[in-house]
Amino acid sequence: GIKCGIVGLPNVGKSTLFNALTKAGIEAQNFPFCTIEPNAGVVPVPDPRQDKIAAIVKPDKTIATTMEFVDIAGLVAGASKGEGLGNQFLANIRETDAIAHVVRCFEDPNVIHVANAIDPLADIEIINTELALSDLESCEKRLQKVVRTAKSGDKESVAMKSLLEDKLLPHLNEVQPVRSLMVNDTEAELIKTLHLLTAKPTMYIANVAEDGFEENPHLTAVETLAAEEGAQVVAICNKLEEEIIELEEDEKLEFLETIGMEEPGLNRVIRAAYQLLDLQTYFTAGPKEVRAWTSSRRHRSTSRPCHPHRFPKGVYPR
Ligand code: GDP
Repeated sequence: GIKCGIVGLPNVGKSTLFNALTKAGIEAQNFPFCTIEPNAGVVPVPDPRQDKIAAIVKPDKTIATTMEFVDIAGLVAGASKGEGLGNQFLANIRETDAIAHVVRCFEDPNVIHVANAIDPLADIEIINTELALSDLESCEKRLQKVVRTAKSGDKESVAMKSLLEDKLLPHLNEVQPVRSLMVNDTEAELIKTLHLLTAKPTMYIANVAEDGFEENPHLTAVETLAAEEGAQVVAICNKLEEEIIELEEDEKLEFLETIGMEEPGLNRVIRAAYQLLDLQTYFTAGPKEVRAWTSSRRHRSTSRPCHPHRFPKGVYPR
C-alpha cells in the first residue's frame, strides 16, 4: 500500500491527528481493522466524484481507495546522530512514500513546547536538518563506494559520482532538501536508488488553534517557507478534528456548518497526501459496489525532486 509518514517535533499534535485519522477510518464501515499497528492506520480517501457516482448507481456498498498513515514519533534534534530513537525512527521514515510534517502553529500554555516557544520555522528547521544530515551521511557513504567503481570506468558509477559531488553533496551541505534540487530525468532515476529522506514528497500540516486559520503569523510563516520549497500546506485544527470525529453523522454536518466548514479538515489532509504521491483514481461501478482504485499516474519516482517554481503557492489540493 501507499504510506504517508506523520513526522514532527514532540507535542505538535501528531498523535491527535493520527488518532482522528484512524477513527475516521473506522467510521467507514468497510475497513474493520483500521489500526494495523499501534502507529499505523489505513484510511479511506474521500472523493466527492465517487459520492456522485454512488448517488446515481445506488450500489449496495461503496468502497473508497485507501492509504496508510504512520505516526512516527520521537524525532528530536540530534536524531541523525542517534539521539532519542534516532536511527530507528529515521529508518521508519525511509519506509514511507511521502511525508506529512506536522508543525505547531497554536499557542497553548498548557501544552509544553520542546523549545519553550512557538516558532514553526525553527521547528521545521530542526526536523529538516536531521533529515538532511541523515541523507548527507548516506550520500557520503555512497560516494566512497562509487569512487572505486568509477575508476574502473563503470558508466553508472561515473554518473553517480558526479551527481553526488556536483549536486547532492553541496546541496545537502547547505542543509537543503533534495526535493528542491533541479535535476534531469537520468539524475532523478539515480537519486531514486539512494532512498533519501529529503527526496520524498513532503507537505506541511499546520496545526492551528480553532481561531487560527486567519491572520495567524505562524501559519503565514509556514506558507511562505513552503511556497519557496514548492510544498503544500494544509492548515487544520487537530483538536477540533478530534471533537468532530466523535460526532454522529447528522451532528457532524450541523457542527461543520456552524463553524463554516464544508467537510472535516481531515479530508483535506488525506486528499493532499494522496495528491502528493501523484496517484490517479479510477472507478468501477455496478449495482453491487462502486469502488475506487488507485494507479500510478506515470512511471515517476515518488522521490523525484521538483523544481520549487513549478508549483503555485501552497494551497491544499482539491
Ligand atoms: P505529539 O507529541 O506531536 O504526538 O502531540 P500530541 O498529539 O500528543 O499532542 C500534544 C498535546 O497537545 C496534547 O495534550 C494535545 O491535546 C494537545 N494538542 C494537540 N493539538 C492541539 C491543538 O490543535 N490545540 C491545542 N490547544 N492543543 C492541541
